[in-house]
Amino acid sequence: MLHPHSALKFVNEVIGSGIFATKFIPKGTITYIKDSLEIELDQHQYHAQPKAMQEVIDKYSYIDEHGHYIVSWDHAKYINHNCDPNTISTGYGFEIAIKDIQPGDEITDEYGLFNLDKAFVCQCGSYKCRAEIHPEDIEQYGSIWDEQIRPALLQFDKVPQPLATHMAEETSNLLNLFLKKTQHYKSVKALKFDSRTVTIALNGTNHH
Ligand SMILES: [Zn+2]
Repeated sequence: MLHPHSALKFVNEVIGSGIFATKFIPKGTITYIKDSLEIELDQHQYHAQPKAMQEVIDKYSYIDEHGHYIVSWDHAKYINHNCDPNTISTGYGFEIAIKDIQPGDEITDEYGLFNLDKAFVCQCGSYKCRAEIHPEDIEQYGSIWDEQIRPALLQFDKVPQPLATHMAEETSNLLNLFLKKTQHYKSVKALKFDSRTVTIALNGTNHH
């Protein structure tokens, strides 16, 4: 579920649509959280879809640490990537604002954490643009992203959190542990999906 102070807007023919803040969203706010209505496909369910549908899923989903394709039921699927984003996925699953977001700002995200199956060319326009976004970016940039997330997470209790009611108890416990004792931090590297385990599982099912 996307933060309520956001709206879908057409950007241009190249980018298509994007998500824009309708009110001020302070650093440390959860901007997206996976809720119980999200459409979740495991690798088998994804591969059972017709090719045309797989392309739609590829465009609108992110892949979580279990290799599951998550398609949002709301506008969250329209958030665009930026190499200098104002929100980012955390090791806790939800996304957080790593900067103050002003009304009218586009809400952007780091796709390098979405277990991409292939690289894509980026034209985000940021001076930090990496030109190509690679599935391995999490290895190279994970620590940098963690350093952006930690200070934002420390603002968690100081800002309004309209999406916090959708947080799973286990996640909430982990987060509280970090907020009390900052050494218990869950890195974004926890989001990395190891595709080798699923390849084995996919092949393995033929024998049953
Ligand atoms: Zn870029």
